[in-house]
Amino acid sequence: MKRLIFTFLLVLWTSPVWGQVARYENKEYGFRFVSPEGWPAVPIQGESAVLVARFNGPDFVDPKARIQFGGIGEVMVLPKAGPTTGEEKPGEKMPALTRQDMELAAAALGWESYLKKRLGDFEEKRRRKVDVGGHEGHQVWLEHGKEGVISSWCLVIERELFDVVVRYDLPTFRMRKRDDRMISAVVIKSFEWFEPEKEGEVDLTQMSARERTAYLVKRDLPDGYFMLETDRYVIISNTSQKITSEVAHQLEKIRDLYEKIFPPEKPIEAVSKVRVFADRDDYLAYGAPPSSAGFWSPRHEELVMYDNTASDKNDTFAVLRHEAFHQYIFYRCGELSPHSWFNEGYGDYFSGAKYRGGAFGPGKFLWRTPVLKKALQEDKVIPLKDILRFSQAQYYQPDIRSICYAQGWSIVYFLREGRLRRKEWGDILDKYLAKLIETRDRVKALDYALDGINIDELEAEWKKFAGKL
Ligand SMILES: [Zn+2]
Repeated sequence: MKRLIFTFLLVLWTSPVWGQVARYENKEYGFRFVSPEGWPAVPIQGESAVLVARFNGPDFVDPKARIQFGGIGEVMVLPKAGPTTGEEKPGEKMPALTRQDMELAAAALGWESYLKKRLGDFEEKRRRKVDVGGHEGHQVWLEHGKEGVISSWCLVIERELFDVVVRYDLPTFRMRKRDDRMISAVVIKSFEWFEPEKEGEVDLTQMSARERTAYLVKRDLPDGYFMLETDRYVIISNTSQKITSEVAHQLEKIRDLYEKIFPPEKPIEAVSKVRVFADRDDYLAYGAPPSSAGFWSPRHEELVMYDNTASDKNDTFAVLRHEAFHQYIFYRCGELSPHSWFNEGYGDYFSGAKYRGGAFGPGKFLWRTPVLKKALQEDKVIPLKDILRFSQAQYYQPDIRSICYAQGWSIVYFLREGRLRRKEWGDILDKYLAKLIETRDRVKALDYALDGINIDELEAEWKKFAGKL
């Protein structure tokens, strides 16, 4: 019996199934290998200077510890510092370090210091020398933190000009069984080196932020995806050319309206990245929040949405204009945390924008009007003095969320487009934002914006306006 099990496992470890596996090839550095069955390649969230590929593993469930963990695989190429790096041109101010620059700086120190920075909570447990396609490498087993729930199997190959790290994260209870052996067998056996296409030509440190983003996006494009660049946006898409072009057009046009309402103090050099998935399945597989139609991720600095034009063309672009506002205001003002009525209300203000005469201008956002009317009729609207101070959690409470969104939109729309009985009401939005940028304190900003304003009078006027929308 023992022998039978041994034979069975041996077969499992040494003869990978070639049908469902993902082949990864890196033309720039000249290597390829096979990611095991159950670990397909997925797009990388946010472009990275050193992370070149990502694999989504199976969901592991440990009935004893009652944990569930989705496996993750990564490939990193850590270029070592070239001779020109760090050379300062006299009289020229060094640009602020971007995330990519920071990654490159850490990578230049080699994989161990990079892993320490990136995986500070992991501890090395074991290491073994191994031949990887004719070059010496190491297998390294890491374990996470005190409880050791997550482990990492790494394959590290240190070359003259760069290090390659292939890493698979697993729950520790699987690592101790057979998964790490299966992965290492497939990856190491299939690993090959070949003549790279553009060796020596690519130096990320010498590129502008824009050039680098375009380069990295192109480098990491999975099969079936393409990139479209406009003046102020980089779009990554796997939906039709037609819809992608419409996205590009609307982004540029609505951006003009953002810049008109919130003029930038200095030119915005950051690249605004937008990901458009062909359908909801691709969108969710990417890791999008299940109840969302689109989202802005400040962490990965990208707007993510999907092509829903088959069910409703207007919806897709309303979502785009809303989320692109969050993205714009991030680059315009830095990371701010306004009250939700301001943040979501303004997002919806742009969702409702109307295109006429070659430009976007104000318009009613018809998604919100039925809910608003009903809430007014049933006397379910939230008093202004409360909703203006709601935390995000209060605003998002499932039973009142749609009323909050409708009210937030109509308040912003009223303050911008309504015929205001008092002149000072017209300054509320601008005063709020200015104070928020200055103090980064939304309560102070609101107190300042509402100073001297009779909130009951404002509410009565807003209700009259909202009732006619
Ligand atoms: Zn929003």
